[in-house]
Amino acid sequence: MDNVNILGVTIHHVTIPEAVDCIMGYLEENGTARAVYTPNSEIIMMGYRDEELRKILNRADLRTADGIGVVYASRILKKPLRARAAGFDIACTLFEKMGKKGKTVYLFGSKPGIAERAGEEINRRWGVTVAGCADGYFDAEKEAAIIADINEKRPDVLLVCLGAPKQEKWIDAHREMLNTHVCMGLGGSLDVLAGNVKRAPLFFQKTGLEWFYRLCKEPKRIGRMMDLPRFAWTVLRKGKQYPQG
Ligand code: UDP
Repeated sequence: MDNVNILGVTIHHVTIPEAVDCIMGYLEENGTARAVYTPNSEIIMMGYRDEELRKILNRADLRTADGIGVVYASRILKKPLRARAAGFDIACTLFEKMGKKGKTVYLFGSKPGIAERAGEEINRRWGVTVAGCADGYFDAEKEAAIIADINEKRPDVLLVCLGAPKQEKWIDAHREMLNTHVCMGLGGSLDVLAGNVKRAPLFFQKTGLEWFYRLCKEPKRIGRMMDLPRFAWTVLRKGKQYPQG
């Protein structure tokens, strides 16, 4: 699959429908669960600083561009992505197809009660059967019980919503032992589906200002968001040193 190497993390050139088709294809396979991540500029910066995380990201089967910063970076590197393919949007289109095909999902992550509420919404809107739910705050004992529950329920898709990079690390460490076809890292999406956190209005999404909306809503994100200008600066200075396939 064509991709762009952004500071050592390769991002696939896929639109939302293409990503969904690819994931639906994974559901027909047997073997180790596929990993799907949707990196934004923050996590690419984390990967730039942390070689182990960079390897984890690149080991995934599909990596799509979550965020306008990643699209701009691809333009700077002369391998322009057509559009962003944000995790939340991929999930919504995926649920639509899964509902029609009778596929099941397991929701893992977020605070207690959120996954269940998100699950009701997923079932109501798209008719997807929710095989199971678990919150994202666990010790070793609870984690073992969650893995056993996933393996008993055998969901087609496992959504892991622990925030980045925790979810990518968790998927990478566990996917070989999980009875599912696809593990997808989806950050705060369950909070949005549960109605706990509102997504930015369309105006902000379309103008590439979703980050600004989120900053106004949650000013404590400022520390994390300082990675955005750092990301742009690093891509401009160092981006061309990374080989393009
Ligand atoms: N979370 C979790 N376990 C943890 C830390 C975080 O389940 O140990 C959840 C948190 O409740 C939230 C999500 O992970 O639902 C992270 O959301 P955030 O918006 O910070 O992630 P992003 O989408 O920006 O990666």
